[in-house]
Amino acid sequence: MFYPNTTTQGSFDLLVIGGGINGTGIAADAAGRGLSVCLCEQDDLAQHTSSASSKLIHGGLRYLEHYEFRMVREALTEREVLMAKAPHLIHPLRFILPHQPHLRPAWLIRAGLFLYDHLGPRQHLQGSQYLSLDRDGPLKPEFHTGFAYSDCWVDDARLVVANAQAAYEGGAKILPRTRCLRATRQNDLWHIELKTENQPPYSVTAKALVNATGPWAVQVLEHCLHTKSPHSLRLVRGSHLVVPRLYEGTQAYILQNEDRRIVFAIPYWDQFTLIGTTDCEYQGDPAQVQITEEEQSYLLDIIQRYFRQAPTEVVHRFSGVRPLFNDQAQDPSAVTRDFSLKVSTNANGLAPLLSVFGGKLTTYRVLAEQALDLLSPFFPQMNPSQTAHTALPGGEYPLNQQAVQERYPWLDQSLLQRWIKQYGCRVESLLDSVQTLEDLGPLLSASMHLYGRELDYLCQYEWAQTAEDILWRRTKLGLFLSPSDCAAVEDYLKANRPKH
Ligand SMILES: Cc1cc2nc3c(=O)[nH]c(=O)nc-3n(C[C@H](O)[C@H](O)[C@H](O)COP(=O)(O)OP(=O)(O)OC[C@H]3O[C@@H](n4cnc5c(N)ncnc54)[C@H](O)[C@@H]3O)c2cc1C
Repeated sequence: MFYPNTTTQGSFDLLVIGGGINGTGIAADAAGRGLSVCLCEQDDLAQHTSSASSKLIHGGLRYLEHYEFRMVREALTEREVLMAKAPHLIHPLRFILPHQPHLRPAWLIRAGLFLYDHLGPRQHLQGSQYLSLDRDGPLKPEFHTGFAYSDCWVDDARLVVANAQAAYEGGAKILPRTRCLRATRQNDLWHIELKTENQPPYSVTAKALVNATGPWAVQVLEHCLHTKSPHSLRLVRGSHLVVPRLYEGTQAYILQNEDRRIVFAIPYWDQFTLIGTTDCEYQGDPAQVQITEEEQSYLLDIIQRYFRQAPTEVVHRFSGVRPLFNDQAQDPSAVTRDFSLKVSTNANGLAPLLSVFGGKLTTYRVLAEQALDLLSPFFPQMNPSQTAHTALPGGEYPLNQQAVQERYPWLDQSLLQRWIKQYGCRVESLLDSVQTLEDLGPLLSASMHLYGRELDYLCQYEWAQTAEDILWRRTKLGLFLSPSDCAAVEDYLKANRPKH
């Protein structure tokens, strides 16, 4: 199947603005229910908040301290649902919480973990336990006791792409690098002006409009739709560091700081540790968000307080802006991670506009389901949601690595492993009509076994257009490739990219 990256014209049941996790999740649910859908994203899919997260599918242990029991239960329930939908992208992760009695007493942590174990269903994840920490382990010897509990790791940007693929396979048009300039209601329909990069603006119509623009939600309402926003958003910057692997093992650490915030140290792509995050009020342009020196020092300080070995260098940094639904909390880390969905119509009760405020990656699927349920009175023919029970593209069946290896004995084992982790069973499409090593095209990086064929696949099936789309979102090869390998990727794309 070929995924066209072309502009479109026409009329749709639903137009979704925003190609982050919430927009693509809504598009996938709507297409699965039989609506005709168009999604526009001004940049690349997942270019903003949805690729800058801590990459956890989690209930959010710390939200229990804010009594957010319903939200935590919903998120814990989603862990199980999402693991089944995309087992290649989401896997269990064991967390170690070293105990520091002066920060939170043991009884409080025990009570919190008991609730965390029992608030939602838990079929595949191990329960919590009290631990004596290994004196020869990676933490400083003063940390001798702690707790362990389970959550999940997710490839956030790929989860977005998988939802876009699900929407596309349900018939949706996916338009990356296409900005919504303005939208107005006329004759009970939305008239939407779109502008795709390097093309003149054009118009489409839709019966309903969804504003899933994350940190831009209020701006889009006020400047593109000329309506007053029913909510204000609290924009909170969060930053991460990627450092060479700090410790052996597959466990993550959840570290309590003196300011009562928590910071994670998470194993990242075998060779690295991901450290984050911060919570800082943010007023600027969400597209320009960057880590500050203070945030970097804050993150490195806490790592040095807990770990024997300090990071030798910072390999990569990234920041994102949380679009939090403003509940007037004083401390940015205490603002709710819950979401709010608001629907308004024209005077005839038609041309609905649904806006998304807040949310988390973890709850994107329930958010989408609830959004479509709210729109269901406008689409009486709409089917019920399928998303709780259907796999995302790539997660349909487990691919047997050994069987694939036997079919392609010349394929490097580490390459096949990486492909399965990224593409799940869609590795079959990547290898479709490939017979020999030569069929994989030119070798662009010998160390990472990156061939032209993978780039072609990403452009054809995953809407990738630039080296950055490929190196930092569709894959994390940017962490591994040398500057000359990156240049080879750029050159290959220039020479082979389909013209739009
Ligand atoms: C530091 C950090 C850590 C986090 N960690 C976690 C975590 O571990 N687990 C978890 O569950 N959640 C986490 N979250 C929260 C989660 O990442 C966000 O809730 C989620 O990604 C928001 O997705 P979104 O689709 O609403 O916004 P976005 O991903 O920002 O998508 C909105 C899109 O709308 C587009 N857009 C804006 N205006 C227009 C326009 N006019 N036309 C077309 N497109 C437009 C933007 O380009 C953008 O791509 C974290 C967030 C941050 C910042």
